[in-house]
Amino acid sequence: MHTTFLYKSDPERGRQWAEVFRRREPAIDFRIWPDIGDPAQVRFLAAWEPPADLSARFPRLEVLFSSGAGVDQFDFAALPPQLPVVRMVEPGIVGGMVEYVTHAVLGLHRDMPRYRRQQAEGVWQPLPVRPAGQRRVGVLGLGSLGQAVLAQLVGLGFDCAGWSRSRHAVDGVKCHAGADELPGFLARTDILVCLLPLTDSTRAFLDARLFSMLPKGAGLVQVGRGPQLVDADLLSALDSGQISEAVLDVTDPEPLPAAHAFWRHPNIQLTPHIASMTQPLSAAEAVLDNLRRFEAGEPMVGLVDRSRGY
Ligand code: NDP
Repeated sequence: MHTTFLYKSDPERGRQWAEVFRRREPAIDFRIWPDIGDPAQVRFLAAWEPPADLSARFPRLEVLFSSGAGVDQFDFAALPPQLPVVRMVEPGIVGGMVEYVTHAVLGLHRDMPRYRRQQAEGVWQPLPVRPAGQRRVGVLGLGSLGQAVLAQLVGLGFDCAGWSRSRHAVDGVKCHAGADELPGFLARTDILVCLLPLTDSTRAFLDARLFSMLPKGAGLVQVGRGPQLVDADLLSALDSGQISEAVLDVTDPEPLPAAHAFWRHPNIQLTPHIASMTQPLSAAEAVLDNLRRFEAGEPMVGLVDRSRGY
């Protein structure tokens, strides 16, 4: 059976995917949008923004792969209802996120934002040094990224906890699950890392009420998605000292408008959504592994539960 795999995302990265497909699965006709060939042959699509009218355009489409870790950019209501949707789970994304969050947590743990401000003011003032074992880090989201980040932080000796919808067991991590266990998790968290997907239930999740349940002076590392954070509530929490410092990799909107208060806030470190990125070579390998599973009737890694939105 002729199989076209259509890629619709950054074409430069697409050429790297094409190399991997040519080497590993030469029988698959790998095409980069807009060179779609015969639309009736397209069985698989990898996209960040899929084209409209998928079922009319590609009547044999069998799987939609997100070219990134999230799927919140998809309008599920506009997708064919039975079409399996798969998010990107690949070692490149994981590695980048582990680096970014570890850097952010270590920076907060060792008071680096404060030393930057002291340097700007010509102040030589050592602060007490707390061992990692006395710093409680809490990660919201125990998925592929949350668990990988926690493995690294546990290795560094931090006192780690995690929170997710369903119960997990993670080595060295105090695992909390569900709304009932959220207050207890927050009450023991000095540095909060958000690695939740954006869904209806996580939109505006990082708000004044949640901040008030953290110990005073907690730090925040937000690497999930911008709309999870209520900007005004973060600014108030920073003003009152409830939150001491925030590291934000994602904002709403992106890029952040020039006049937005986050740009110049002394207690906010901002990066332009670079915590981690899909790495084309390892992503193509991961998708090929999933194609093999799909053809063998096995469950694909990263298959999205459309009723949950992630
Ligand atoms: P996963 O789907 O593997 O994990 C999501 C985790 O969040 C799961 O543990 C899930 O719980 C938990 N969760 C989801 N909804 C809720 C809820 N309402 N209440 C409690 N827990 C919830 O995702 P990944 O780890 O692969 O990625 C997480 C997110 O990271 C992505 O969706 C994306 O938004 C963000 N990201 C950001 C990047 C950046 O550069 N800034 C790059 C890559 C990803 P359960 O285990 O019970 O299902």
